[in-house]
Amino acid sequence: MLAVATLIGGLVLGPWLGILVDRVVPRLRLAAEHRCVGCDAGLGHRSLVPVLSWFGRCGQCGRSPWLRYPGVDLATAGLFAAVALRFGPTWKLGPYLAVAAVLVVLSAIDLETHLLPNLLTWPAIGVGLFVVLVLSGELGDETGLKSALVGAAAFGGFIGVTHLVYEAGMGRGDVKLSVLLGLFVGWVAPDTIGALRLVFYALFVAFLGGGVVGLAYNRIRRRGRAEIPFGPALAAGALLVVLASNPLLGSAS
Ligand SMILES: [Zn+2]
Repeated sequence: MLAVATLIGGLVLGPWLGILVDRVVPRLRLAAEHRCVGCDAGLGHRSLVPVLSWFGRCGQCGRSPWLRYPGVDLATAGLFAAVALRFGPTWKLGPYLAVAAVLVVLSAIDLETHLLPNLLTWPAIGVGLFVVLVLSGELGDETGLKSALVGAAAFGGFIGVTHLVYEAGMGRGDVKLSVLLGLFVGWVAPDTIGALRLVFYALFVAFLGGGVVGLAYNRIRRRGRAEIPFGPALAAGALLVVLASNPLLGSAS
């Protein structure tokens, strides 16, 4: 029931997340309409109708949104339902729904522009830290707080070092994203050792998945080196590990 409600919520919220994907990088004023992916024309409020907006066309150039709108909307809806199944009606449900929405927006922007804008990453880290601090404090969950901070340091630290060694492949945006990811990967762990294990799994999934997709992409495009952004792979690795954290850590609930 909760999963169905969040699934529908995700489909409704998706178009609004798409506004951020449209407008944050070109620094456009936020408005309640999408912009055409072809000619930048405003598409009106109709472009925010869930599901139906996928089939609309631009009045100016006739382009359809093709993959973008269904991609963002279905990713949001699917992740929302998965997060609801993982956490149930608990106090961590809200924060992880918010994290999922933020990661969909950042991944879509990274895929389209190869950027992870500071305008989103810094506030996400700030709000994330605040939420983890307040909720952990409120519930007397000192180990949860410690695990989250250890996760953020480990994830951010590893990607930070990778950035220093291999700057072309791993940008500064990836480092900031990783601090956010580590915070919320660590927060589901029961202790700091568990947090480190989960961060390791998330990195493993991200590098494996990112590597396979990168190789396949290069085969198809016949380019010398990977030009796909790594942010979405990191986000996917972290989300998968959060969703599967109980079996991964060998706990039942
Ligand atoms: Zn157009």
